Amino acid sequence: MTNATSGGPGRIAGNGAVAARAPAKVNVHLGVGPLRPDGFHELQTVFLAVSLFDTVTVRRAEGLSLTLRGEGSGAGRGPASVPADRRNLVWQAAELLARHAGVPAEAHLEVDKSIPAAAGLAGGSADAAATLVALDALWGTRATRGDLAGLAAELGSDVPFSLLGGVALGTGRGERLSPVLARRRWDWVLGIAGEGLSTPTVYDELDRLRGAGALPDSEPASTEPVIAALRSGPAPVLAAALSNDLQAPALRLRPELRRALRTATEAGARAALVSGSGPTVAALADDEDAAVRLAAELAGAGVFRTVRAVHGPVPGARLVG
Ligand code: ATP
Repeated sequence: MTNATSGGPGRIAGNGAVAARAPAKVNVHLGVGPLRPDGFHELQTVFLAVSLFDTVTVRRAEGLSLTLRGEGSGAGRGPASVPADRRNLVWQAAELLARHAGVPAEAHLEVDKSIPAAAGLAGGSADAAATLVALDALWGTRATRGDLAGLAAELGSDVPFSLLGGVALGTGRGERLSPVLARRRWDWVLGIAGEGLSTPTVYDELDRLRGAGALPDSEPASTEPVIAALRSGPAPVLAAALSNDLQAPALRLRPELRRALRTATEAGARAALVSGSGPTVAALADDEDAAVRLAAELAGAGVFRTVRAVHGPVPGARLVG
């Protein structure tokens, strides 16, 4: 567990806690277009929120303070890769909401992380979205869902989706969302392989490979096939439609991910792809039973640090308890 505090003019009232949780995401389609003048790439992506959640619990306190537990905190498995100070997205979310609402940024934030950090699962974005929802309730800021979505987009490209959840088409840098109605549940196994990968490094490698002519300078492929497959299945049709333009650069940076993908398909996955910027491998299963069997196989394969059976779509950031 790691802690940080920042003093500040005090106003302590009550001691009730408010908790919110938000899901991880898998990009079932990630089409990366050209680099924009602002340094972001133009994206066409289809997000699926899956049942792996981080929880943020907030309490009234003097100033802002933060406690981190679980993945990335250095207390459990894996390295301490998540900052427990004002660099953390939850801290930035708290300051942004306080400014927006005109209230003092005063709360203790407790983040319980189950979503591995820097894994291509948008764990930091989930934490930021959960913080907005929890603090809105604690501070009584009465922000609308639209207000929160605007603040989310300021915090990061994936934060609006962490707030919305379900299935959505993301354009722009991924922050402009159109919800998609998916009629069925999809079962996956997430295999977290090795150390985290930095998202900017993976985009830089994509630009380098495209610049060197090693990869086509692509206009993003259509999202229609994957959206149609997600809506009604069956699994082999979705399996054939999955795609991720960041997979090639992630494989260049982490060649051992090839073996991880192969291990997943050989163990019975319908398909396996790198989730977002990686290094998580998302393996599609036919149903819940198949996912449980696949997870057991992959846990024993010695390729992944952590293996989790999940399903989606699930809702975005919500109050709990
Ligand atoms: P994405 O897929 O959204 O690009 P990711 O899932 O690969 O991101 P995150 O888990 O969101 O990666 O973390 C990326 C980096 O953000 C971390 O290495 C860490 O330095 C920083 N960070 C800041 N706040 C958090 C947080 N609450 N949880 C995780 N990482 C955070």
